[in-house]
Amino acid sequence: MHNSALQACGLDYVYVPFDVAPEGLGAAVAGLKALGVAGFSVTIPHKTQIMQYLDEIDVSADAAGAVNTVKNERGRLVGYNTDGDGLVRSLADEFGFNVRGASIAIIGAGGAARGAIAALCRAGAGRIIIANRTHERASELASELALRFPDAALSVVSGFKELEECLTNMDMLVNTTSLGMNRDPLPFLRLARLPRTAMVYDMVYAPPVTPLLKEAAGLGLNVANGLGMLAAQGELAFAIWTGITPPFGLMKSVLDGSCDL
Ligand code: NAP
Repeated sequence: MHNSALQACGLDYVYVPFDVAPEGLGAAVAGLKALGVAGFSVTIPHKTQIMQYLDEIDVSADAAGAVNTVKNERGRLVGYNTDGDGLVRSLADEFGFNVRGASIAIIGAGGAARGAIAALCRAGAGRIIIANRTHERASELASELALRFPDAALSVVSGFKELEECLTNMDMLVNTTSLGMNRDPLPFLRLARLPRTAMVYDMVYAPPVTPLLKEAAGLGLNVANGLGMLAAQGELAFAIWTGITPPFGLMKSVLDGSCDL
């Protein structure tokens, strides 16, 4: 998707993948810096570990506790995180959803949840409720983010059953867990309590229709998978590296196969 956007914008860059083992991360970053690359993406399992090798951490990455985009600014490597803002942008693109003032239920408390919740707080969400299999992890995450975003109404429920009780007041439900990748349903969570106007977003995009999205669509709710977020985080990274916004929708259409590479 990056190479298609670079081509569409007439930019003389190329985006290539490197498979880096954890023990080689420091050397790989030093090598990229020495080579003078314009920037690079970072993905699992390096998103947190890479922070120690960078010269500066942008507020987006600091709040998310992870970096997914690095820009080389005249020899200084600056780490950003575009995942959370990618989610906010994807919610707007897919549903016309405005986060400001909205009530949002989050399932999960891992890395993806952290970036997402930080971005939702920055975007002015009215109320965020978090439920996670491991309750302590959700509590720690909420306490940490509450310190950074004292105006945000963040709360944690002790389990999926308790989350179900709160669904009647939610505008949006976002799954940030990996459940669904293996077509696993979300345990003990029935969506029938969501208002008819509520939307359901699953960060998982393979398979494109997870059991969660299937159930939500069956109830007549608006649904979307994480492909739009993947494209949107890429669009934001592209703009950080090049200073240019890629053509709207191009990256997503490359990802979903509706546009030829
Ligand atoms: P992570 O840090 O490992 O967190 C995993 C989360 O899933 C935790 O909340 C974990 O709960 C929960 N979980 C895993 N297995 C579970 C199960 N059997 N039952 C209940 N909960 C379970 O991973 P991550 O980086 O947050 O990524 C999570 C998902 O988001 C992945 O599928 C990833 O592909 C997706 N993602 C998508 C995008 C996108 O652009 N669309 C971007 C980032 C991530 P515990 O705390 O209890 O272990």
